[in-house]
Amino acid sequence: MSKRVREGGCGCGATRYRVSGEPMMVHNCHCRLCQQQTGSTSVVNAFFEGDRVDLLCGEITEHEVKGGSGNSHVICRCGQCGTALWSWYARLGRLSYGLRAGTLDDPDSVTPDVVIFTESKMPWVALPEGVPYFAQYYDFREVLPADNLARLMALVERRKAGEG
Ligand SMILES: [Zn+2]
Ligand SMILES: [Zn+2]
Repeated sequence: MSKRVREGGCGCGATRYRVSGEPMMVHNCHCRLCQQQTGSTSVVNAFFEGDRVDLLCGEITEHEVKGGSGNSHVICRCGQCGTALWSWYARLGRLSYGLRAGTLDDPDSVTPDVVIFTESKMPWVALPEGVPYFAQYYDFREVLPADNLARLMALVERRKAGEG
């Protein structure tokens, strides 16, 4: 297993984090809620097990918003400047964090595995070549490599057992 370590942080520098290993999956989501919550065309979320993310300094504030599924989705922000650093979702709770790829010190080090909710993509945004895309959501089992799928399913089992 890769032991690559990445770091990232917020706009003011008060909050820094470190994450180990490779993401389970990287989503580029063009849903209307992501557009609204980021004020941008889409979001790029790199999903890791929550326990692979270490807060190095600063304080996080949590902000609950609605996700596309209607379930709650919690955006975690720098308590000083409000930069959104990661999110967690009702399905897996804090067992899985979707890191906002743009907050990594080296954002080029992750690329999307899948582009989702292209049905609401702003019409002038081009899709990346060679990356599967879906009008709405997708089936993980059709896209993720076996190792990554196994990591994700392990979290599903832990959630069923009451964690997160
Ligand atoms: Zn900050
Ligand atoms: Zn979205």
